[in-house]
Amino acid sequence: MLDKAPNGKVSDLLDTLGKALAAGEVENAVDLFQTDCYWRDLVTFTWNIKTMEGKEQVRDMLKARLADTKPSNWKIADGEDASEADGITESWIQFETGFARGFGHMRLKDGRIWTLLTTMSELKGHEEPVGFDRPMGAKHGAERNRKTWKEEREAEAQELGYSRQPYCVIVGGGQGGIALGARLRQLDVPTIIVEKNERPGDSWRKRYKSLCLHDPVWYDHLPYLPFPRNWPIFSPKDKIGDWLEMYAKVMELNYWGSTECKKASYDEKSREWTVVVQRDGKDIVLKPKQLVLATGMSAKPNMPKFESMDIFKGDQHHSSQHPGPDKYKNKKAVVIGSNNSAHDICAALWEAGTDVTMVQRSTTHIVRSDSLMELGLASLYSEQAVQSGMTTAKADLIFASLPYKILHEFQIPVYNAIRERDADFYKRLEKAGFLLDYGDDDSGLFMKYLRRGSGYYIDVGASELIANGSIKLKSGVDVKKLTEHTVILSDGSELPADLVVYATGYGSMNGWAADLISKEVADKVGKVWGLGSSTTKDPGPWEGEQRNMWKPTQQEGLWFHGGNLHQSRHYSQFLSLQLKARMEGIPTPVYGLQKVHHLG
Ligand SMILES: Cc1cc2nc3c(=O)[nH]c(=O)nc-3n(C[C@H](O)[C@H](O)[C@H](O)COP(=O)(O)OP(=O)(O)OC[C@H]3O[C@@H](n4cnc5c(N)ncnc54)[C@H](O)[C@@H]3O)c2cc1C
Repeated sequence: MLDKAPNGKVSDLLDTLGKALAAGEVENAVDLFQTDCYWRDLVTFTWNIKTMEGKEQVRDMLKARLADTKPSNWKIADGEDASEADGITESWIQFETGFARGFGHMRLKDGRIWTLLTTMSELKGHEEPVGFDRPMGAKHGAERNRKTWKEEREAEAQELGYSRQPYCVIVGGGQGGIALGARLRQLDVPTIIVEKNERPGDSWRKRYKSLCLHDPVWYDHLPYLPFPRNWPIFSPKDKIGDWLEMYAKVMELNYWGSTECKKASYDEKSREWTVVVQRDGKDIVLKPKQLVLATGMSAKPNMPKFESMDIFKGDQHHSSQHPGPDKYKNKKAVVIGSNNSAHDICAALWEAGTDVTMVQRSTTHIVRSDSLMELGLASLYSEQAVQSGMTTAKADLIFASLPYKILHEFQIPVYNAIRERDADFYKRLEKAGFLLDYGDDDSGLFMKYLRRGSGYYIDVGASELIANGSIKLKSGVDVKKLTEHTVILSDGSELPADLVVYATGYGSMNGWAADLISKEVADKVGKVWGLGSSTTKDPGPWEGEQRNMWKPTQQEGLWFHGGNLHQSRHYSQFLSLQLKARMEGIPTPVYGLQKVHHLG
């Protein structure tokens, strides 16, 4: 007989929860949660991205937000069944609030809620025009002087930003700005994307020539338009550039290429931004209500300052400016840094016949691409996952349902298994002098990314070249100074060089607010990115979510968007709904607006 017990358990609990919430009985609702519970809310109850950790925080949130939110209709999601394994019952769920429809995920332990994810799917009355509601396109019938789709698009392009103001301006038209722009277009939020490069995709095209995405295709889809099934696993950078350019066009984005945002200021009285952009050599003033900085986590190069850099006679540049190896055949190169870019650049130089040395100052986390794919990503983002029925949307939500507070506990065993599987590989790297780490608490790559956005290389071949000495290595040293033709290291050794590449990473997005708006606003908003995990480069206190990303900040009308392709896809949904709600005048009282502990 089919065991219906999991469905029964979940339905009973949702019934009781729904009744308690409808009756405003906060204590009865809180009683349904485990002591060590986590409720992660993406915009439905809190108009924020927030994780409530423990019963007390759940209680506080409900006391503040229940009456306004008016949740109802809690049930197992249509077409889904609950399941049970290892003492955990889990289920996809759906529900409604006064203003929205929600979808979520729940895990029960001993009959009580252990993790709850509530996410906003759509705003009632402002649904995206899809399926039965898709646009007609053609206008059947007869109408004098009717405009074609093309004429309407051209008219919009002429008006928006000139005779009609956009509601939202997105600064930065990389994949982040583009994905958010696509969602806002579907929600009918007039938006202009301002991008200083000429064409969508240029931020990828301009990177070093050997670059391919480090994440696999299943992880990288854009909203609405997944890659075709024959798309390569790791997109070459120019190919992803072309995809983004095509995407921006077919998604009908108002994309202002070759346009640089020069400055922005907010008028607290009119609650409006003044954004000065330079387009076609002219200053244009835009007056949006909402300003999104999608200027990229990897767009502000960290250029180190070393003694006597100015007298060096060879080429020297940051990795973001590195043209590729062609010019440096049979030359000597020194690459400062030991993360992704450093490895990719060293390998490409070696392939071109350059004598290349990597300078590694401190430890780096290395994970082999195939191990990461098989042990780290396969259950959610892989061909096997697709074959077993996993959709991108579900994979994103399962990932989102794991609370940040305990995410490392799920990650540590994965990286322990990777260490065991690749023990010989790691041993050979160490023998070559490479300094390894696996994250402060051995939780590996993804936690490093979320906490500090740096400190790792996904190995696609360069590590072998280091292990076998093809790429020379100087580790545990820093650069002391440059001379006309050499780099002198802190251990006194001197490396002859025709080229020095500073693969020294990128500044966080903090700097953008200071550059474009003001130091005061940057400090008011505070640090962007990181969880407050008190690990290296991620100072506490604990935040529970990524600082300032995709959610309201201390500066009204100012938002940050970005991250990898997965994050851009997933969180653009929740940012677009927050912006749409504001445009429609829906009350959006923000619960638990993050406090600022670190200046911008
Ligand atoms: C070498 C390398 C490899 C990477 N590999 C991967 C990977 O495999 N998978 C992955 O998901 N991510 C990868 N990343 C991270 C990558 O940077 C981001 O995923 C992606 O580029 C972020 O997109 P974004 O739109 O947030 O930022 P960006 O692509 O950096 O776009 C920001 C845009 O803002 C524009 N801009 C900045 N200031 C202004 C201004 N004042 N006015 C107008 N425009 C402005 C810039 O020109 C730029 O185009 C990699 C990064 C690097 C450097």
